[in-house]
Amino acid sequence: MAKTVVALPLPSQHLGTARTITVHRYGNPAGRPKAYIQAGLHADEIPGMLTAHHLIARLDEADRQGAIKGAIVVVPVANPIGLDQYVAGRLYGRSSLEHGQNFNRGFADLVNSIVPRLEERLGSDAAGNVAAIRSALLDGLADLHPSNDLHELRRTLLTMAIDADFVLDLHCDLESLMHMYTSDELWPEAADLASQLGCRVVMLAGDSGGDPFDEACSMAWWKLRNHFGDRFPIPNACLSATIELRGKSDVEDGSAASDADNLFRFLQRRGLVAGHPGPVPPLRCAATPLSGVDRLITPVPGILAYRRQIGDLVQAGEVIADIVDPTAEDPRTARTPLTTRTSGILWSRNQTKMAVAGESVAAIAGAEPLSGRKWSLLVD
Ligand SMILES: [Zn+2]
Repeated sequence: MAKTVVALPLPSQHLGTARTITVHRYGNPAGRPKAYIQAGLHADEIPGMLTAHHLIARLDEADRQGAIKGAIVVVPVANPIGLDQYVAGRLYGRSSLEHGQNFNRGFADLVNSIVPRLEERLGSDAAGNVAAIRSALLDGLADLHPSNDLHELRRTLLTMAIDADFVLDLHCDLESLMHMYTSDELWPEAADLASQLGCRVVMLAGDSGGDPFDEACSMAWWKLRNHFGDRFPIPNACLSATIELRGKSDVEDGSAASDADNLFRFLQRRGLVAGHPGPVPPLRCAATPLSGVDRLITPVPGILAYRRQIGDLVQAGEVIADIVDPTAEDPRTARTPLTTRTSGILWSRNQTKMAVAGESVAAIAGAEPLSGRKWSLLVD
């Protein structure tokens, strides 16, 4: 089937306003495997949008050649609500200013609501169970009654993705390396994705606690398996990941085209597009637990003067940054050094170099879970 582009309307929250989500669809909508790829759920994270633009060009060419084998859905700008949030000339796209919620949290956990309707429909055939669960998940979403445009945005996006075999949510960090979050349930199954993208960090969590988009798509499978025990065979039928395309300022055609090429090769390897993806590149890192991330919290406000660069391997006890108070009477007392408690790769630094007391200013991926963690696994 030829590619289609549709604009899905969101409900109008305010008189005289209208918003839509543009969706590029390839292949037979009922075809398998199905991949769903979106960018810009955090509306101020632009690298994924440019990558989606390049990926759409690649997929258009594949479509013209009849090379689309599965169903592919690409949403290059997933959050028109966030993209409208300019404050004092700056785009603020991470959380809803109207509702005070992070755009990538609070996606519906449908497991409890669909368990009753699955009791009668599951059996000994794993493929049949996958179809029944996907159908129940879609029914569960249809039964929701969103109370505002933000909730409808979440439901609309999830409805396009929840029955997919592959869900890739494109984000970026502040100053960062290419990295990825996925579930420990999906590792090492997702290792070829991390390899192909050249991820320098892969962080795994069973349940990060915030109901982000990628977990809302994949977690139902092992939650249902845990619920039903060995009564019914239930595989992990959705491989989802949050892909962090480096930092906010890393918006260039060169890297975006390269990232799109890597996503295209992943789609080829997984049978969605015909053609040879080439060999899987070597994995550039071992996966580490999300609970092993050390976030450096500054106890005082001041200027952020980093001693180490993104990508540096650091040791526990090393000073990563100084917080400098230039108003100190004596410059010798103006610095507060921040040390890391773990050894690993420094993968995130702040863009804004004026720190607020209590702010997280750097993140290091350690191999072991940290005790005494004072932050939730996901940073709002
Ligand atoms: Zn994000």
